[in-house]
Amino acid sequence: MTDREGNIDRLREELSGLIEPEWVSRVGTSVIVKPRTAEEIAAVLRLANRTETPVRPRGGGTGWWSSTLPPAEGILLQMTRMNEVLAIDEDVLTVRVEAGITFARLEEALGAQGYRIAVFPESGRTATMGGHIQTWGTSPHTSSVFEDQATQIVGLKVVLPTGEIVPTGSTAVTAAAKDFSRRFFPADLTGLFLGAEGAFGVIAEATLKIFRQPEASRTRVAGFPGLPEAVAALRAFQDAQRGGGISTLVEQRLVPREMLLATIPRLGESLPAAVRFLLVLRVEGDAADVERHMAAACALSRERGGRIVEDDLPEWWAGRFGSFPAAGLGKGPRIMIVAMVPFAGMEEACSIVDAFGAQHGLSLKLRGYPFGGPVFLAHASISWEAGRPESRLEALARARELMAALIGIGAVPHRVGTDFLPVLVERLDPAYYGFVKRVKGMLDPKGIMNPGVVVSG
Ligand SMILES: Cc1cc2nc3c(=O)[nH]c(=O)nc-3n(C[C@H](O)[C@H](O)[C@H](O)COP(=O)(O)OP(=O)(O)OC[C@H]3O[C@@H](n4cnc5c(N)ncnc54)[C@H](O)[C@@H]3O)c2cc1C
Repeated sequence: MTDREGNIDRLREELSGLIEPEWVSRVGTSVIVKPRTAEEIAAVLRLANRTETPVRPRGGGTGWWSSTLPPAEGILLQMTRMNEVLAIDEDVLTVRVEAGITFARLEEALGAQGYRIAVFPESGRTATMGGHIQTWGTSPHTSSVFEDQATQIVGLKVVLPTGEIVPTGSTAVTAAAKDFSRRFFPADLTGLFLGAEGAFGVIAEATLKIFRQPEASRTRVAGFPGLPEAVAALRAFQDAQRGGGISTLVEQRLVPREMLLATIPRLGESLPAAVRFLLVLRVEGDAADVERHMAAACALSRERGGRIVEDDLPEWWAGRFGSFPAAGLGKGPRIMIVAMVPFAGMEEACSIVDAFGAQHGLSLKLRGYPFGGPVFLAHASISWEAGRPESRLEALARARELMAALIGIGAVPHRVGTDFLPVLVERLDPAYYGFVKRVKGMLDPKGIMNPGVVVSG
């Protein structure tokens, strides 16, 4: 047995002393640990600090930026055993969950009491709350109004890389019995752990806002001959939303024609061939608002050259946990390029993606949705072959090239992971990156948490 092999076996043995051995296993040169409590996570992190062993938290593994692979000679902290709803509080309208819960499981528990959360991913059958919070999670179905998961967080229970367990919401005030606001301290320290891709600590629990299930919902499609007309309609929605005219238009998604037809083939009959760019419009709220706001959104679309498919599309919402994107994306592993593009840059971004696809023989299409203002969360993906690991490297080189081109026109990356950090770091203000490194060094002095994420290795 080599020294290296012996070290990994010793690590596994030590971890089996902290967590029941059935939840500790070895895969290749990594040890996989499945904790059940924040205290168990803390014990693992203290051991990792003492032995300077890299640790990577993992939820559902649906983040496509390579930062969920088991670290070599390190520990993968698989969070999916921590999957309970801890409390639904109808007084302050929150739900407290363990971070490894999937969205499908959470939705079931909340739905039984007539509630739901506002922001959930299409990967929600597998993706976990902890992973979503750590990746600036959004929801194409609702983010045009509710923005991202970060806006929904009231408090967290975090295990710091050095093993301390810290509350970040109002329960940090010892007399407060529950989390009902994270705005009690003169700095948003909860924010440190949002979108941090597991580099600053492990989220063990989260408290989020809940909402009554909407009374009604309606989905229609507006088809446009070109991108400028579709973007003009999106701009008109933003203006109207800020003026209160169509406040319940929760989804305004730009979908390539091919993807929509792959998911709802019957639409092929009602969409003329001249229609290339589609906006899926979905409103939800009370029945009267739904009628009024859908009528207003359709009118704004028509004024900008849009044609409305008059049917309601109930299957769109029914497929919210992934059946649709799966059909539209195609099969097999892929690297996602996700960037935020101001509306004014959308045409250029689309041309860049189309030209890049043509140059490299890739079938690439930019799609996405507005969130947080007249800004588009745009994404495209490059597939690779599961049986040919070197094809991932080729795809990654292309993906980095494309991300760099998008940053070059003023876009900013949305998910970074280990895949895009090298592209981003080169373009970061040195003062900002120096600040990030100081925060990382303070929280994680041994650099054990998710190496290669947030700070390059
Ligand atoms: C088909 C498909 C559809 C998708 N649709 C959406 C969508 O609609 N909206 C959206 O926002 N994203 C979407 N995504 C991207 C992805 O699903 C989200 O980023 C997702 O929420 C990640 O959750 P996860 O549990 O799978 O996290 P993972 O992929 O396991 O982890 C993601 C990152 O978070 C870290 N992490 C995980 N859990 C914890 C924790 N408890 N504490 C600290 N760090 C942690 C990991 O180390 C890693 O860096 C989609 C992906 C796929 C494959």
